[in-house]
Amino acid sequence: KEPPIDGDFYNISERLSPEDRALQLKVREFMEKEIQPLVNEYWLKAEFPFEIIEKFRALNICGVTYDGYGCPNRSYLMEGIIAMEMARVDASIATFFGVQSGLAMGSIYMLGSEAQKAEWLPKMQQLHCIGAFGLTEPEVGSGTAGGLTTTAKREGDTWILNGQKKWIGNATFADVIVIWARDLGDNQVKGFLVRKENPGFAVEKMHDKMALRIVQNGLITLTDCRVEEADRLQHANNFKDTSRVLRMTRASVAWEAVGCARGAYENALAYTRKRKQFGKPIASFQLIQGHLVEMLSNLTAMQTMVFRLSEMQDQGALKDEHASLAKVFCTLRTRDIVGRAREVMGGNGILLEYNVARFVADAEAIYSYEGTKEINSLIVGRAITGSSAFV
Ligand code: FAD
Repeated sequence: KEPPIDGDFYNISERLSPEDRALQLKVREFMEKEIQPLVNEYWLKAEFPFEIIEKFRALNICGVTYDGYGCPNRSYLMEGIIAMEMARVDASIATFFGVQSGLAMGSIYMLGSEAQKAEWLPKMQQLHCIGAFGLTEPEVGSGTAGGLTTTAKREGDTWILNGQKKWIGNATFADVIVIWARDLGDNQVKGFLVRKENPGFAVEKMHDKMALRIVQNGLITLTDCRVEEADRLQHANNFKDTSRVLRMTRASVAWEAVGCARGAYENALAYTRKRKQFGKPIASFQLIQGHLVEMLSNLTAMQTMVFRLSEMQDQGALKDEHASLAKVFCTLRTRDIVGRAREVMGGNGILLEYNVARFVADAEAIYSYEGTKEINSLIVGRAITGSSAFV
């Protein structure tokens, strides 16, 4: 009897409650049945498969951890497991979900007023309304904490926003975009719920990416864009508040990296068992097994790390540096794993149809977004040394 192809070598899913395990399998089934068959085609076209939204909605998973507003109120562990299951099949779909459920809904849930939460969260939970999160600018990426150039000027009950935002996931079709801008009054970073129909808001699709091609990244231009005071995130007073959202979403990105690595590992393992050279399956060769075991070691270390990370999150003990360490370690190891997965598949490793090439490309984007390796390392470095080395 052939051993199973399963990247959960230490059986982490055994630690889930029966309800969580059932939801994990439901998400897995959705990804394998609904996403896998169309993913390479859409990745190549660099388009988003809008026809999946209806079935996505039926999963009822947006806003996984939030309480109220129709959200599931599940654990952070469950949120991580969902991110992993999605990325195990496709990191673009996991990113679409991470932007909607984490960055956009999370900003409103954590920093919005009661009225803002009541207006947006129920329809976002149901995917009747799509959200985006605009922090990065064309000239300001890693340095957003002190360097945002997008400005917000208050005139009575209206704010006037000016500036550009680059790389904004879901932005081309989002109904509401959380825009982070510097208040010209007190020089602090504030968040604004910009509706797509607001005068002065424009977005163009970014083209020719070599990773996460299904994610629709936009370049947003705000030209005297008018936003009502009622649409300013009422509890976002400075960049520390923005960072609270990023702390939560970085933990999810670490799980996404695990999923990406797991998908590549499982596909590569299956391939090496089938592919024969010199009259034998290549999986029987020592050098191939060496690669596979190296991949599995890293994958298992990553899984145990994010499992504990989510436990800390569920206990309310998660700090920025904890999320950053996992983000750095998992995205770095993922690059190694997807590279080896490609390697053991020879030439077929670079063909989309063999379902590893896409992971190789997508791992590059996950490695850089939500804070690069350097920036997240500096967050950990500051925590363990007491010295900030950012500038
Ligand atoms: P830069 O900041 O220009 O960095 C270039 C290099 O310099 C990096 O290696 C970096 O680590 C290094 N560096 C910078 N400062 C230091 C330092 N002090 N010490 C040492 N090294 C340093 N942003 C959003 O707001 N919303 C989104 O939805 C979104 N989605 C994205 C999706 C994708 C696919 C990608 C690729 C990016 C997305 N981003 C988004 C932007 C992302 O967060 C930025 O790309 C990231 O923060 C890095 O910024 P940058 O690309 O401008 O690189």
